[in-house]
Amino acid sequence: MKSENEWYYECSKSTPQQALIALREAWKRCFNKTAGVPKFKKKGKRDSFTLEGTVKILGNNKIQVPVIGVLKTYERLSQVLIKSCTISRQADRWFISFRFDVEQHNLGNTDVIGVDLGVKNLATLSTSEVIAGAKSYKKYEAKLSRMQWLNRHKIIGSANWKKAQLQIARLHTKIANIRKDTLHKLTTLLAKNHGTVVIEDLNVSGMMANHKLAASIADMSFFEFRRQLTYKCELYGSKLVVVNRWFPSSKTCSNCGIKKEALTLNERVFECSHCGFVIDRDLNAAINLSHCVAGVPPVVASGVSRVVS
Ligand SMILES: [Zn+2]
Repeated sequence: MKSENEWYYECSKSTPQQALIALREAWKRCFNKTAGVPKFKKKGKRDSFTLEGTVKILGNNKIQVPVIGVLKTYERLSQVLIKSCTISRQADRWFISFRFDVEQHNLGNTDVIGVDLGVKNLATLSTSEVIAGAKSYKKYEAKLSRMQWLNRHKIIGSANWKKAQLQIARLHTKIANIRKDTLHKLTTLLAKNHGTVVIEDLNVSGMMANHKLAASIADMSFFEFRRQLTYKCELYGSKLVVVNRWFPSSKTCSNCGIKKEALTLNERVFECSHCGFVIDRDLNAAINLSHCVAGVPPVVASGVSRVVS
């Protein structure tokens, strides 16, 4: 195997080791039925590799890695002890990320906050705060689809095609970065300032409110949102509670706890026929989420009142 593939010796010995560890994890996830069968890696798609061993930060913007040597970075590097680093490519830019130990903070917050994710607004918090989210990428998305349309007749593999592909890849990265940045700001705000953060398992209401494409995008940001929130809550010593997706967060009155039979997607305001409570739909859902702190949402049968803690 090794002698057949000469490239095996071109890189650091830890790189294939790390790749095999990643493969083992991928198969584990597959057998646990949490993911599908791992796919083969292809050059040019999601290029990345991991290096272990002597990774050292030299000065403000220089880092030494095995085999490759010293790399210069645009960003100033903090003086930390590095365990391993991963080098990856996005469009035509290279990135280096590294692992190091951090002390866990415990900020001692005790309050509970419910978060309702939406399509119209990025998030509505149970404190009635609304986070609108980035709208700026909308114009880039239009530009992207135009670029893809203009390049539809280019010969695959030709110089012009390659040039266009690079431009498209750059724009993709730009859009993804804007979206990620907004999510990072939101998840930091939540994890840092609140003791317990309650979210819904899946962005079901948002998924139904829009057509398929928007749904898949909203869906993708939901997983990124949850991923960021999970590690940031751990970092800041706060608790993350994920509520079962079938919990009727939108249909239940946050004032008296009675569940409505039907609530159409167009109803942006929740009106309770029982106690006459009127509230914004998303805020109502966020407050309901903040009420299920125990992790298991209370059983709510229609017409039966729920104990609000
Ligand atoms: Zn009510």
